[in-house]
Amino acid sequence: MISPIAMAGAGRMVRVKGVQEGSIAEELGIVPGTELRSVNGREIADFLDWEFLTADDELVIEAKLPDGEEIVYEIERPEGESMGLELEAPTVRRCANRCEFCFIEGLPKGLRKNLYVRDDDYRLSFAYGNFATLSNVKERDIARILEYRLSPLYISVHATPWEARKVLLNNPRVPNIVEQLTKLAAGGIQFHAQMVIVPGFNDGDVLEESFRDLWAMGDAVLSVAIVPVGLTQFSHLYTGQSMDRDTTERLLQVVDRWADRARSERGDAWVYGSDELYLLAGRPLPDADFYGDFPQIENGVGAVASLRMRVHEGLSQLPRIDGRRIGVVTGVSMAPLMPELLEQLTKSTNASFELIVVENSLFGPTTTTAGLLVGADIRRALAGRTDLDLALIPAECINDNGLFLDDEPFIRLREEFNMPVYPSYDFIDVLSREGTPAEVAA
Ligand code: SF4
Repeated sequence: MISPIAMAGAGRMVRVKGVQEGSIAEELGIVPGTELRSVNGREIADFLDWEFLTADDELVIEAKLPDGEEIVYEIERPEGESMGLELEAPTVRRCANRCEFCFIEGLPKGLRKNLYVRDDDYRLSFAYGNFATLSNVKERDIARILEYRLSPLYISVHATPWEARKVLLNNPRVPNIVEQLTKLAAGGIQFHAQMVIVPGFNDGDVLEESFRDLWAMGDAVLSVAIVPVGLTQFSHLYTGQSMDRDTTERLLQVVDRWADRARSERGDAWVYGSDELYLLAGRPLPDADFYGDFPQIENGVGAVASLRMRVHEGLSQLPRIDGRRIGVVTGVSMAPLMPELLEQLTKSTNASFELIVVENSLFGPTTTTAGLLVGADIRRALAGRTDLDLALIPAECINDNGLFLDDEPFIRLREEFNMPVYPSYDFIDVLSREGTPAEVAA
């Protein structure tokens, strides 16, 4: 049952961006631009309030239509039926820290504005897996996380000793993370933690103490990722030491010791070094089994193992494309790992694969990740290559809007070449796609 009635009063709100055809929202007369103000007497400040407060089937929703009409909807919603609303993106909570190692501080000037937004938002941590430091989280936010059971969260811990964390985040007002996490853990919230390691700041004793603190929180801590500091040629705040091979090896030894303990006491490795840490140490990367269900793959933990696994499993789906010449563009850090994969692809397809390694022209030679290559790098890598039948480029370096980090649209770039160019995550995705072999053979 749905009935609109008159309304008084207004406060915080969220605005409607879109309404699904045939949905309850459309039936109510809600249109894009409508302000949703309260649900069952509770104000709506953001998408979380909307999501959780509308979980009931009996709803009283206060709203204001774009023409200024204020309205109250009383709804008895059929069980499980969604309201059919898309909300405007929330205002992102900004970061109050000024970490020396901040990647955003290491961006060159002149990129599009949203790349410089330093978000630190527990809501996005829950909704999208973005890491948040909880530095800007107040008691009322903790209460909200507990009430709405926002779990798991992704938390940039970096260090648990309070003083060390203040220095590391360059923020003397940073709250005590151990107290915050203990409260969350006691309320049943679980989290994945990451520690970006800055040599001389949070390795050594600080790292050991951090592991001890996190370990003491038991099952609340689902995984811990150890990530070496990543700097670009523009990281102007950084005063720490560089991440050399000895340091990465020492870090991996600490990781191994805690992972051994975790495997015997809780059945999984619990703490994982990022792929970059292994590459810098010159150590072989673990197999896919090591990473369980890949809890921090988005954080570069186990991405190589996952790629190897997907290639291995996908080989049988590949068609023969005898003698075709395929260029594979990658960044410097992946280059040594590619020949074994390309060899397997060659055996399965009988095509010939050429590895094209390209340095990052925007961030400088210290930035070696394939996913940070920009449009200009791809252009440089493939310029004049009339001898190739197809080129594959890392899909990770193009965002959801089809743009490279330097704002180059992929669709414009690919027009410059006289061979097909495809973004690819694991080669199999493109080479097994219907039509691709024919296109290559054409
Ligand atoms: S927490 Fe530190 S690294 Fe993250 S956005 Fe803020 S300043 Fe940058």
